[in-house]
Amino acid sequence: MDLRAHIRDVPDFPKPGILFRDITPLLGDPTALQYSIDLFAEQVEDYRPDYIAGIESRGFIFGMPLAYKLGVGFAPVRKPGKLPAAVHTASYALEYGSDTLELHQDAFPAGSRVLIIDDLIATGGTAAAAAKLVEQTGCTLAGYGFVIELVGLEGRTKLPDVPVTVLLQY
Ligand code: 5GP
Repeated sequence: MDLRAHIRDVPDFPKPGILFRDITPLLGDPTALQYSIDLFAEQVEDYRPDYIAGIESRGFIFGMPLAYKLGVGFAPVRKPGKLPAAVHTASYALEYGSDTLELHQDAFPAGSRVLIIDDLIATGGTAAAAAKLVEQTGCTLAGYGFVIELVGLEGRTKLPDVPVTVLLQY
């Protein structure tokens, strides 16, 4: 299965000069969609997660079916102000300014192993902030899973020293 054939390149989105890797064709293809979740499950099984933390919003799309398939729980990592109960927060730097992510303080029982899922790792700032949230819950970061890694941006160098699975590299 050539997953790459189901990723669409969209020039100048969301800003001029950015080549956006669009995963919606993959989602729209039943075979590619099933294959990507199955492959993810195979590759992260060894990380023995108890929970998946999916990063808003495309991390929800891949994280939830993966949690279902692995038979583990799921918690959303969200943009500020979206989660109703008490949250941990973690901020990270953007090219201009900063952004913040939140996670419910009681998302995981203490000592759980948590796998972070997102659709894509670029600079790694988002994924590194998600790790800080998991750390604040007192849980263990079991690893990361991304559909796509933009290798040239060296996002992995920002991540803690845990296993990382990617389905596709550019
Ligand atoms: P980073 O923090 O690693 O620089 O950016 C990763 C975040 O931005 C992810 O949450 C991802 O969804 C989003 N993102 C950045 N560039 C792209 C892209 O080209 N395609 C997709 N699908 N998401 C992107």
